[in-house]
Amino acid sequence: MLHSLYRYTVFRMFYMSESNSNVCIWNESRIRKIIEILFKTHNVDLDEFILKNALDKVHSVPNYFEILTAIILSQNTSDRNAIRAFNNLKTVLKEITYENITIVDESVLKSAIRVAGLANRKSRILKELAVILQKNPHYLKDLERMDVKEARKRLLELPGVGLKTADVFLLMVLKKPTFPIDTHINRVVKRLGITSSSDRYEDVRMKIVNYLNNDIDSLAALHLLLIVHGRRICTARKPRCYHCTLSDLCCRNL
Ligand code: SF4
Repeated sequence: MLHSLYRYTVFRMFYMSESNSNVCIWNESRIRKIIEILFKTHNVDLDEFILKNALDKVHSVPNYFEILTAIILSQNTSDRNAIRAFNNLKTVLKEITYENITIVDESVLKSAIRVAGLANRKSRILKELAVILQKNPHYLKDLERMDVKEARKRLLELPGVGLKTADVFLLMVLKKPTFPIDTHINRVVKRLGITSSSDRYEDVRMKIVNYLNNDIDSLAALHLLLIVHGRRICTARKPRCYHCTLSDLCCRNL
């Protein structure tokens, strides 16, 4: 009995360490496998994303201020609410420009964006941003010619622009190599074991960017796919591991 228990324990120790070390070693091809699997798993409806709604309305010359406004509206709320707030604002202002945001009555602005939450804070930020950018009308356009590090630094100097907002703008709008991490992505990459549970925003961002060798298309695809996976399968309270197509690759750090 003792003998078989010993053999079982040794087997478990060996098997588990072997299994975990295999499962939890990440490299570029393994991350690309995640993209490939998620791409086949999820029918991504880009209309679910605030950015698609903002970019759809961009004509020949992108209105970067309008797009940045959309991203700010999406802070601390769902994309659905952000889209509603954005559309309300478009209805009120017709076009989201520095001038229009500056002159619109603050109560009208708040009322238009209220559905996205934090209306006081967001309306104040939009007003401040509009004043700054009106004085520096090429501020956002100039980011195009900067490298990602410099452009990120400049964006982060603006009111209301935090790490995630800056990275969304840089990757999804200006096509620069970075990786925005929202609450879904943070949860899923840590459960998968791609990054450790103690990693902070910058650690996670740099790991993913390095794994994917600054490949902008792959970074953007992974960003969208992990959000969708976090919303539909790897949910915060009850991850649906039995239905998860990433199951074989996952360290399940739950
Ligand atoms: S196996 Fe479970 S924990 Fe891992 S990604 Fe899938 S749902 Fe999340």
